[in-house]
Amino acid sequence: MRLTDTHCHLYFNKFDDDREEMLGRAIEAGVTKMLVPGITRETSLAAVQLADAHPEVFAAIGVHPTDALTWTEDTPAYLRNLAKPTPSSKDFSPSLAENGRLKSSLHGKSKVVAIGEIGLDYYWDAAPHELQQDILRAQLALAEELDLPVILHLREKDDALNGPCAEDLLSLLGEWVSKLRSRAHPLTSRVGVLHSFSGSAETAQKAIDLGFMLGVTGPVTFKNAHQRREVVASIPLEHLLIETDAPFLAPVPKRGRRNEPAYVAYVAEKVAEIHAKTPAEVAEITSANAARLFSW
Ligand SMILES: [Zn+2]
Repeated sequence: MRLTDTHCHLYFNKFDDDREEMLGRAIEAGVTKMLVPGITRETSLAAVQLADAHPEVFAAIGVHPTDALTWTEDTPAYLRNLAKPTPSSKDFSPSLAENGRLKSSLHGKSKVVAIGEIGLDYYWDAAPHELQQDILRAQLALAEELDLPVILHLREKDDALNGPCAEDLLSLLGEWVSKLRSRAHPLTSRVGVLHSFSGSAETAQKAIDLGFMLGVTGPVTFKNAHQRREVVASIPLEHLLIETDAPFLAPVPKRGRRNEPAYVAYVAEKVAEIHAKTPAEVAEITSANAARLFSW
């Protein structure tokens, strides 16, 4: 079974005591790739360092909407630099190349495979909506420039199924995708994913029409999550990714505990049940989807 956890925050201190063992359990469970998205500058750097140190780990870099107030004028330059496949030539030396930080880049391909986690959050309302939208636009522009897909966070006020957050996000994404299409930008065929999707089937369909995938997390296994399972049932498997969002959102039977990438297997099992497939088929299809999207 080849599983992929397309969203896990492995730099949090909840993993400080057993990070290596946790990664070992993931590999044991069949997880062959894990994608770690940053939420700030610091955690984006931490994601890149984890990716450099572990062959199964890849990184996404970006500023989360709940951290929008940390955004400064030089943040794009900082992120652009993190995404570079090789260090600037003046810094480059064979001795530097031998240590971990530069290992992955020696093959000429960065392990930064996406811009994220970015998006809009009207639940915590940690920053004015206009500011959230501005930094989202700036990061979409960066994704276009660096030819990287985006990992999007979307959360409505009161966790509603539908509302202004989805409306604003879809309209921003719609503008971005039509610009990409009009320029025949290579990213058009792999624009990104709406991660831990909790919206309506209509929102899912609109996102699919723009070329986005939808990420499924642990709550799909929760006893009362009938609506979420209906939405997942409405989405063809070739548009789905599975993820843990570790350390958050642990699936049944680990609900309430710290989540970790090995548990993505429970998400695969539930999606298999919903789509009348075997877990191995779901693991294979969603891993292939991830490989197409993140081009790894
Ligand atoms: Zn996340």
